[in-house]
Amino acid sequence: MKQIALFERGIDPTPLVEMSGDYGQNHYYIKREDMIPFSFGGNKARKAAEFYKEIKKCGADVVMTYGSNSSNHCRVIANMACAMGLDCHIISPQENREILYNTRMVEEFGAVIETCPVTEVSETIDRRVEAYKQEGRNPFFILGGGHGNPGTRACVNTYREIAAYEEQKEICFDYIFHASGTGTTQAGLVSGKLLTEDRKRKCGQTVGEKKIVGISIARSEERGREVVRQSIEEYLGSEYQTLYREEELIFTDAYCMGGYGKYNQDVQKTIEEVMAKDGIPMDSTYVGKAFYGMKRYLEEHQIQGKNILFLHTGGAPLFFDLMDKKWETERRQA
Ligand SMILES: *Cc1c(COP(=O)(O)O)cnc(C)c1O
Repeated sequence: MKQIALFERGIDPTPLVEMSGDYGQNHYYIKREDMIPFSFGGNKARKAAEFYKEIKKCGADVVMTYGSNSSNHCRVIANMACAMGLDCHIISPQENREILYNTRMVEEFGAVIETCPVTEVSETIDRRVEAYKQEGRNPFFILGGGHGNPGTRACVNTYREIAAYEEQKEICFDYIFHASGTGTTQAGLVSGKLLTEDRKRKCGQTVGEKKIVGISIARSEERGREVVRQSIEEYLGSEYQTLYREEELIFTDAYCMGGYGKYNQDVQKTIEEVMAKDGIPMDSTYVGKAFYGMKRYLEEHQIQGKNILFLHTGGAPLFFDLMDKKWETERRQA
């Protein structure tokens, strides 16, 4: 079977395992979305699989998206377009132009990268989409970070895999923690939970007290929550009114540690601990930060003896950027 057929027939459930390290007085499990076997995996690969179907359906010949050219999203989309034999056009903000491993890969996949000031993003996108159409081409535009219904649907699948694991192993997770950025992952998990639990209730089954906690990696609580809620509303459609409950949406900005991508020594220590004890790489922008945030959250809320699931959302190439930075700093200090 061809590699890209992975997207055609749907992704296999990602590994879910108990962690070996002692990260506090709870039972820790981890779901490895970083092990989706395409372009270093991660939630962007999971979302891409859904966009793949949409792109095929409408017969697009150029895949367009928005995002930093050093992002996981742009790497995966550029890689997918390349693998599909399609052109890829990325609109990227002029600001924040770090050259990371993701940036180099995006270039190697042959994507066209068009930069513009962040204030002119939507005009630039509109203009470029129009220009392609004028040329008689059929562009498919994917929102930044794989936001939107196909992205949410992808993460509903993640929740379904978690629920299937619980059923099979006769275990209930009390908490699911994950890094929350554009909010699509959280919207998918919460929607998945609402739909699954509704079905269980209708069959007279009891449902657990599971909480899904999004650790914000940049956004404020107010804005972050609202975006997640909107995505849930968009995804659930007519079922939103009956299924959605405010208290299902837990989103905390207490562990942003100075904002997007900001370096923090405690996060770095946590990443080294997880790598040493469990052999699992984490980056410092998303996953390591969220894992560290989870540890603090559990301490601060005095949560003990619970089954905790951490969702590893990917970003493997960023792990190597972090190592490079550490080495560079050490060399400079030596
Ligand atoms: C994009 C990303 C996230 C955030 O996911 P959202 O769906 O945007 O909230 C988390 N972790 C990694 C590694 C990511 O690349």
